Parts: sequence; structure tokens; C-alpha cells
Amino acid sequence: MTEPKDIDLLVQADVLYPMMSNEEIILNAEVAIINDQIVYAGPKLNSNKWNAKEIILGDGKVVMPGFVNCHSHAASLVFRGQSDDGAGGKALYSVAFRAEATITPEQWRDFARVGVLDMVKAGFTTINDIWYEPEALAEICLEAGLRAQIAYKVFDVCLEDLYLNLYNHSTKIGDMRLNRGVDFVKNWNGAGNGLITGRIGPHATDTCSSELHKNAYMEAKKLKVGRHTHAAQSAGEVAYIRSKYGVGPVVYLQELGVLDPDIILAHLTYADNADLKAAASEGVKYAHCSTIYPRRGVYPDIIEITKKGIEWGLATDWMMNDPFEAMRNALNAIRLKQGKHTAYTSTQALYGSTTDSATVLGLENSIGKVQEGFKADLIQIDINQPHLVPFYAEYASIAYYARASDVVTSIINGKVVMRDRVVIGIDETKALEAVAKHIPALSDKMLKLGGAVHPGLCPCGF
Ligand SMILES: [Zn+2]
Repeated sequence: MTEPKDIDLLVQADVLYPMMSNEEIILNAEVAIINDQIVYAGPKLNSNKWNAKEIILGDGKVVMPGFVNCHSHAASLVFRGQSDDGAGGKALYSVAFRAEATITPEQWRDFARVGVLDMVKAGFTTINDIWYEPEALAEICLEAGLRAQIAYKVFDVCLEDLYLNLYNHSTKIGDMRLNRGVDFVKNWNGAGNGLITGRIGPHATDTCSSELHKNAYMEAKKLKVGRHTHAAQSAGEVAYIRSKYGVGPVVYLQELGVLDPDIILAHLTYADNADLKAAASEGVKYAHCSTIYPRRGVYPDIIEITKKGIEWGLATDWMMNDPFEAMRNALNAIRLKQGKHTAYTSTQALYGSTTDSATVLGLENSIGKVQEGFKADLIQIDINQPHLVPFYAEYASIAYYARASDVVTSIINGKVVMRDRVVIGIDETKALEAVAKHIPALSDKMLKLGGAVHPGLCPCGF
């Protein structure tokens, strides 16, 4: 008889969705973990096979890879309810961009902590974030144990003037921000046993000058890291780029020579065929934010994007941090847009938010699957719920019926970061209290900018 194998953690499940290319779903399964790695994932073996330091039982549980969010802004939750019903991208320019300029680093830190908490509780085990105060976000991700690619938001205009269509590019501001982005990568890339990765983040095609886009490209190459940017996000951005350069935003970036497989473009909402051709020919990666588009009444041509072979994954963008919502919004919107129920399947939605999103981040060989040799990034979902029974163990069972609040356990890099919905590294009560303190003053500000309609009703204003 062979000796039991020493392992750190054994995670069991009634149902395992490994997200392997064969679309297999395994009943009565277990995952064995040593350090940060999966050493076995499959049907339950004989109970004396493992000598585990810890066992997490799997009765009534699904195990699957943690969700991967390939475009997020953890701290942006301050705008919840403030720009959702505004006129599409206009609310972004008139409310959010103007309010952002007045929010302090301490406030961003407090918002980011709640955003990270929200994302871990929703089942994300990796995020790709671009925002202010990247150092604070990196610290919070390490507190929570969340895997993150992080970029500092680099731009050279006054965001608060863009709603007036005023683009005054300042080399001094652009250089200052790019330097901070570079310093962030130098100081944080690889931190926390590789949990944190840096990216360079030229914010958007219109908020950086051509020079700044080129400099961001060169700095990223020197640092050997990827880039993360917004492209063809709003009609205003497209109009500005067209009026100035005579082409669409993606063709513009291509002509600058800054597109390659190391850049992630978020949105492509208003990209035309020439833009999509440029994106495909340069091998860029694409973050598809299925929740924000319907809210703005527009949807990118995802069928053409897929046909052209552009690799893409599902993302949440800002304010919303829910992968289940992202899957269902994509399913509904793509089917409606195409007028056929076969346009996008629940299987595709689950792959889109795990393995495909990992590919966008360049992590397809280490996360996004529950597979031997992969990093141990996985979640347990409690299926003993009125909205989940009977659980037939199909892809549709998760994509259509599970909710973020069903995620009970999260393991990232082999470490249990959430048990019974409690995120171990973050004090939830304190985190929520810290945010509540900032809201009364910010609520007044939003009102002046045309955001909040009923600021006095915010229960945080005690
Ligand atoms: Zn975004």
C-alpha cells in the first residue's frame, strides 16, 4: 500500500467545473493543493490517498476556478447611482470625471478596500485594474489576498474639462503621471509572491497625446510589462480622434505603432470595421464589459469581434463587481442583438469569465482552470439555495441561476482568503464605516455636477 501524500489543502465538491477544453463536468470531486499549486483535480480518490493539513468539505458545493475580471476600477463604487441614468458616456464626462479630480488619496483607498471586498465576495480571484492610487490598491489586494494586475491611470488633460470638449494636453502633467506609473511598476511588480503585477495604463485614446501614448509604449517595453487602456468607449472620444486624426481610435493607435498582443483594450463600443481589423491584425486583447453597455443603450459588435479572431474575456468595468451579472448581461444582450438564442451560450459565458479572461491577462497557463499544475485559485459555491435547486450540474445551472452571494469559499494562490463569506484579511464593518464617512460631502458635490437627484436620502449621511 502506498503512503498517503502530504498536501496543504484538500477542497471537495459535489460538482467540479474544471473549465478544461473538453467541457467536462465532474461529480463527487476533489482538488489537492500544495503551496500555491493544484496537484490533483478530479474524481474523489480513496480517502487514504491524502494526508491533508486542512480539508474543506464539499457537501452541497460546486468548485470552479475563481472568476477573472479583465477590466475593473475597484474604487469607482463612489459613483453608484450617480451616473447610471445619465446620458450614456456624457455622465462619465460630466459627473464622474469632474468629481474624480476632487477625491483625496485617503478616500480612494477607502473606496478601493470596499471594492476589493465586494469582488472577492462575488467570486473574483483575479482583477485587472486601472485607477488612481495604485499603491494603495496593491496594499489592499495583498491584505485580501486577491491576485491583481494594476496600472496607474495616466493622462495629460484636465478630465474635468472634457465635458466642455476642451482637450488641453499638457506634456508636464503627462510626464508626471507616466513617471508615477513607471515607479509603481518598479516598486510593486511581482509583490506578494507574484500576486501583484504592474501594467502601464495610458487611460484612453483621447485623454493622452500621441506622444504620451508612444512614451507609455516605450516605458512598458523597457519594464517588460503589458499595457491597459480604454478605446472607442464613448461617442465623444471617437468624434475627437476622428476630427483630429481622420481615423477611428484603434486605427489611430495602430498608426502610432503602439498596438501589439501586450495591450488590453477595454470597450470597443464604437469601434468600426476598420478599427476591428486593426485590433485583430495587431493581436490586441479585448475586455468586454457586458454590464455597462446595455446601461448606456449601446452594445459592441461582439459577433464581428469574435469572427475577426480577437481574443476577449468578460469584465465588469466600474461600480459593478459581479461576474454572474456580467455573464447574464452578455447572454441577454448578445442574443437580443443577434435575434437568436444560439448567438452566445452559457458554456461560452462561463469560459468567457474564467479561462478566456485569463488569456486576456496573459495568464492562460496559470489561472482560469482547475487543473494540475495551475495556481490554486478556486471558489466554492453553495448550491443548497432555493434559487439553485434542482441543480442539474450543467453550465446553464451556474450561468443563469447562481448569484454572487452563493460564493462561500475563496482560495487564491493556495491560501483560503474567504470562509463562509467572511473575507479574512479585511474587517468588513470598519471598511464600510470608512466609506460612509466620506459620502455626505461627496453627495453634495455630485448634486452640483448633475449626478445625485436625492442626495438627502443617502443613509450614510448620519
Ligand atoms: Zn473602464
